[in-house]
Amino acid sequence: MFEINETHDPNLRSWIDSANAPDTDFPIQNLPFCHFVYETNKEGYAWSAVWSVGVAIGNQILNLFGCAEDGLFDKFEKLGEVEIFLENLIYYQSEAADTLFKFRRQLIDLLREGVSQELQQKVSRHLYPITNCTFDLPFEIGDYTDFYCSIFHATNVGSMFRPDNPLLPNYKYIPIGYHGRASSIVVSGTDVKRPKGQNRADQNAPPVFIPCKNLDYEMEVGFFVGKGNNLGESIPLAEAEDHIFGLCLVNDWSARDIQSWEYQPLGPFLAKNFATTVSPFVVTMEALAPFRAPAFERPDGDPAPLDYLSGEENQKRGGLDINLEVYIQTEKMRAENIAPHLLSRSNMKDLYWTIGQMLAHHASNGCNLQTGDLMATGTVSGREKHERGCLLELTWRGTEPIELPSGEQRRFLEDGDEVIMKAFCEREGFRRIGFGECRGRILPAE
Ligand code: MN
Repeated sequence: MFEINETHDPNLRSWIDSANAPDTDFPIQNLPFCHFVYETNKEGYAWSAVWSVGVAIGNQILNLFGCAEDGLFDKFEKLGEVEIFLENLIYYQSEAADTLFKFRRQLIDLLREGVSQELQQKVSRHLYPITNCTFDLPFEIGDYTDFYCSIFHATNVGSMFRPDNPLLPNYKYIPIGYHGRASSIVVSGTDVKRPKGQNRADQNAPPVFIPCKNLDYEMEVGFFVGKGNNLGESIPLAEAEDHIFGLCLVNDWSARDIQSWEYQPLGPFLAKNFATTVSPFVVTMEALAPFRAPAFERPDGDPAPLDYLSGEENQKRGGLDINLEVYIQTEKMRAENIAPHLLSRSNMKDLYWTIGQMLAHHASNGCNLQTGDLMATGTVSGREKHERGCLLELTWRGTEPIELPSGEQRRFLEDGDEVIMKAFCEREGFRRIGFGECRGRILPAE
């Protein structure tokens, strides 16, 4: 696990002014990675595009391939090393943890206040305004696994479907999860078409095949596997985080009516795999070092985790203090210029299992994790009502609709609704860092 070090110094500032704004998601202490595209001369014949690995800084994206070509990463021995490193970073990030550690310092040396005018000019050539960039998925995602790690979410949902027996007996022993689908993961900003599927709302009649009626979002945090493991080998909990490259936001779109009919006995399937949205920026584990938290404090009477899921370091600071927010903006709100409406606020430190435990459990049977695999925490809900991370919980299965500032009501998502997720970390004595946005708008069914 990364320690707090000189790269987290709150007094560190950038010569890029927007990176010093108190409310920016991307100060020099953050430096999240992304895949971006910048198109020039869209209208003219001389169309060209920059497609590269980037780092977000203030309201700009720094083109890392461009910097490498210009020899700006001069502490690497050869230019080729940087190019390979950057490609590896995104595609095959196998042994790069140590290199990543050095690379973060090089980036800071390019971007910190006080560097020469000459260097600033050189670096400036590789900066692009975020608002003029489009983004690709941060990694080529081979496999996707979704967990179910909020005990508050699991208890709420369980009590709707099984009032006598909300939490199943395995919950406090196993980080519950299911294998999701990687092919339908899309980057923030991609529209999501309402799925069709089997609905059996009328228990006395056969199911009907219709557009989903109870469309929902799930506020989740994702983490990308950096270094993988060989088939047949497990990953000890103490080493789990060495295999995690960084975190992003995940919206696990969910068709609740399809889900309630299909989920037994094998779990979620078509209710989930029509789309999953991720944010474009990957915040590294090192950037998150100041925002570590103890693992969830299990109440008296809860079993201790089994040995392979127990560890002192994990207990002390396996958790993450990340504030999560979900907003909605309907078509009517957009037309009337009404700002997105806050639906919930929750915090990742309330998860029952840590990301280290999720990863260690995933590999505990010898399952080989691979670079670029995405894992998500499951809906992050807290104890309180305003901390419920999906509409199923917020509206209690549609029975308590939400009032919006436009005068509209919502039980579940309507066509034209846009869901916007945000996250940030704050701690006294440290610079606030953020995750950017994870947004998606619902289009009508086919
Ligand atoms: Mn989920």
